[in-house]
Amino acid sequence: MRRRRKTKILATLGPSSNTPERIRALFEAGADAFRINMSHTSHAGLADFHRIVRGLEEDVGRPIGILVDLQGPKIRLGELAGGVREVHKGDKVHLVRRMTADNPSDIPIPHAEVFAALQPGEALLIDDGKVRLRIESVTKESAEAVVETDGVLKDKKGVNLPDTVLPIPAMTPKDRSDLDAALHLGVDWIALSFVQRPDDVAELKKAVGSRAACLTKIEKPRAIEWLSEILDLSDALMVARGDLGVELPVQEVPGKQKYITRMARKAGKPVVVATQMLESMITAPVPTRAEVTDVANAVFDGADAVMLSAESAAGQFPVEAVSMMDSIAMTVEGDPLYLSIINSQRNAPEATTADAIMAAVHEVTNTIHARAIVCWTKSGSTALRASRERSDAPIIALTPTLEVSRRLSLAWGLHCIYTEDAQDLDDMVDRAARFAFLAGFAKPGERIVVTAGVPLRTPGATNMLRVAFVGPQKERANSE
Ligand code: PEP
Repeated sequence: MRRRRKTKILATLGPSSNTPERIRALFEAGADAFRINMSHTSHAGLADFHRIVRGLEEDVGRPIGILVDLQGPKIRLGELAGGVREVHKGDKVHLVRRMTADNPSDIPIPHAEVFAALQPGEALLIDDGKVRLRIESVTKESAEAVVETDGVLKDKKGVNLPDTVLPIPAMTPKDRSDLDAALHLGVDWIALSFVQRPDDVAELKKAVGSRAACLTKIEKPRAIEWLSEILDLSDALMVARGDLGVELPVQEVPGKQKYITRMARKAGKPVVVATQMLESMITAPVPTRAEVTDVANAVFDGADAVMLSAESAAGQFPVEAVSMMDSIAMTVEGDPLYLSIINSQRNAPEATTADAIMAAVHEVTNTIHARAIVCWTKSGSTALRASRERSDAPIIALTPTLEVSRRLSLAWGLHCIYTEDAQDLDDMVDRAARFAFLAGFAKPGERIVVTAGVPLRTPGATNMLRVAFVGPQKERANSE
């Protein structure tokens, strides 16, 4: 089974999509990889999702990525005296470092780090930014603030501190335990939430090692300030527009989305655009025009993947949401303006042999109208450099590493095939042509461009470009 779409779809799993039949339906509708959100999933639930997706992968014979999203150090209110409190613009409020407030006028925040780091003049947002406070004074135990927007406070609502760098570790004890469970199962991607600084990513990388790839969710303004350093350490980024739109004025999010997308593409690392993409499809079978335009614009931006959150995890129309995303992406990719927009953001190759070869692959493919680019890739790096070029021709990534084929399921334009390594140069070219034919990308007599690192089995040493004709082929050899 192959997709004609280049932009990938990452669908979150949840109660609306927790059986083999439903997950299969999401895959058939177009989901390329699945996200499991540990804010809402138990270890038993994670193990079930993992088993179902791996079973589906076996059935359909296509690598499917699994991304586990760690909750991260989310700050929450404690318990208010009475559970609820209304606040009005101009009110002076008293924040206390406690889990439970005895006094109805106190707002409890059970995190010492908040009081250690907050400074007068900084903002403190509650409940997705619905209530905004401005800090006037702080001690280690309490803070005085003035209310800037009317609202209602309730127990355990989320707190955002857009101006403050909190002295907290990147991972909570819950994250560490979720991470252990995920790595034990052998998932492909680990996503880290509320990253503030490059060290947070370094901490995750240290804990994960080579057992999975690491995706950094960009949802804090500080992370954007450190984007270049964070990107160096990460294997992929996510534009996590939910919290980003709380921590930043919401009108700044589209510009940041473009900036993050371009930076990731320049670095040749996948970038996922996430959150509220088809939000109204949680309860309706069709999206709004504005949502369709939002998904389309992420595709025009050259995002590697677009994500569904509650639409596929907890909505009433999960399969319809994936189908809708699929058809939006397909339609945009077929738009006469698409390639020129994508190419206008093309980056110059870096001064490496691999990049020079990839730029040449792009040119040669366009000049001779080759039907497909076939890369042999052991670590995945050759395939990611090919993806970075955003060529019109499909890219087939042949890899002898199952984990790599799964991780690459998030990357733009890659059709990944897990296969044993080539024996020699002739085998490399013959099998490239055979796979291009079998996957339906090229017919006998058509040309493909093959790229690899020679000598074989040297990861990251891309140095070969070869144009090959697809010879006469049998539909399916007995050995396959
Ligand atoms: C987001 O905030 O946009 C996001 C993707 O993270 P979460 O779903 O964990 O809130």
